[in-house]
Amino acid sequence: MRNRVWMIAVWVVVTTLDAAGIGSYRGDAKSETPPGRNVPLPADRVVVDGHANLPDSVQPYEMFIPRRYLTKEFLLGKVEQAEDTAFVEISRRYTPYKLRLLKETYRAFIRMYEAARQDGIELKIISAARTYQAQSLHWNAKWKRLEKQEAFTSDLEKTRQILLYCSLPGISRHHWGTEIDLNSLEPSYFDTPTGEKVYAWLQQNAAQYGFYQPYTSRTSPNRATGFCEEKWHWSYRPLSAPFLVKYKELVTSDDIIGFTGDNTVKALDLDEWIDAVNPRLILPFPYGIPRVERPFSAGELLLPAVSPPKRIAP
Ligand SMILES: [Zn+2]
Repeated sequence: MRNRVWMIAVWVVVTTLDAAGIGSYRGDAKSETPPGRNVPLPADRVVVDGHANLPDSVQPYEMFIPRRYLTKEFLLGKVEQAEDTAFVEISRRYTPYKLRLLKETYRAFIRMYEAARQDGIELKIISAARTYQAQSLHWNAKWKRLEKQEAFTSDLEKTRQILLYCSLPGISRHHWGTEIDLNSLEPSYFDTPTGEKVYAWLQQNAAQYGFYQPYTSRTSPNRATGFCEEKWHWSYRPLSAPFLVKYKELVTSDDIIGFTGDNTVKALDLDEWIDAVNPRLILPFPYGIPRVERPFSAGELLLPAVSPPKRIAP
């Protein structure tokens, strides 16, 4: 009951802020504070999350989303992430590569990394924030490789095949700076003793630090469509859950252009990929999106039907 009252209160605040227009917010709603949290709402931030489902370890500032994160350009990875002070370069202590994350995500990851280390688990970030441009290059390279295989005759078949493991530019959650790929992109790694231990630790502990696996097993709730299972991919929920809501509001298929095979986008229902994530990453009504809930048929996703899904050589 208390949660419900709080959710309604937040909804009222958000609606009021929206009505006031971005940038013009000031005054009375400023004193709005989450229950039990004595932190005023900074003027450049907006409460988007009902927070009722967030773990206690999530800090109050993480419930306040900087307004400029909630723009189409930002959510499409079209900001200059290398120059943007919202992003930080990840220390080589945590990754062998030159990668960036939103600073809030990074801070939470470091907390998780330290806890894992104390339990004898080593976490290594192998992919993090990606711009639209970077994802386009990645996508084009996959397309080129697939063309050489000559197994797929139509462009739409190629797109669907690549989409099994690689996101279209513009629908990648990696644009947001909230996503990390850990340890290995090979499903087989997670069948090794080390991989199994790492995954078990993440399943048990990651949520305490705000991280959830978006692409769980295809038999899990809400996962009948979309990307295949990715045990390496973890999402920082305090930001990514509200980002998804805003993304759905702002981005349409018209925005998904500028790469090889973009002519196929209109033939896809992009929501089959965007919405089909772990329900824990979807905010509850009235903030959330309707879930995709229908039986999975292999033939529907794979063209031509192959079983098990073909993995595209990295
Ligand atoms: Zn990923």
